[in-house]
Amino acid sequence: MVKITRNFLKRVDVQELLELVGGPNGEKILMKVPSTKFVSEFSLADLVNIHINKVRSILYKFYEHKIVEFTKHKDLDRGLYIYSWRLLLDNVKSTLIKNKKAEIKILQDKLLSEGLQNHFKCHGCGTFYTYDQSLNNNFSCPYDDSPLKMVDRQREVRKIRRQVSSLEKQIMILRKMAS
Ligand SMILES: [Zn+2]
Repeated sequence: MVKITRNFLKRVDVQELLELVGGPNGEKILMKVPSTKFVSEFSLADLVNIHINKVRSILYKFYEHKIVEFTKHKDLDRGLYIYSWRLLLDNVKSTLIKNKKAEIKILQDKLLSEGLQNHFKCHGCGTFYTYDQSLNNNFSCPYDDSPLKMVDRQREVRKIRRQVSSLEKQIMILRKMAS
């Protein structure tokens, strides 16, 4: 097992994820949340110099992804609840994996999509046709009679396949990590 430490948060893909979930200030706030103990949101707000309400709403977004957890207690002087937060490093990892899986799904859908299967293009109007459609029209465009030329989509297909296999490798490596 490769150990996950706080350095994990500095990975480019994790930073992107944190911004995706928590917005532009998300990463800044999360970097101050410890994983070993709970810290009050008032201290966090002071540390990052962002208004308490804003800090809480951002932490809630992370909470929805189980990246942080909280406890609350009633402040008797002020008569309101104070939330304290703790970072769940392992869940940052699992959210990252989930995110990469979603990226793979998008890429695979793209591979199956019409766009990559339309193999012929009209040189006149630019309309795409499948092989069968082109054959039925004797390889000329039904709108303007221009010749239909084959479009080589293999380069694009190979690029997407490489992206998928790279993401799969990243997921495999991530699965071997734990805090
Ligand atoms: Zn045409």
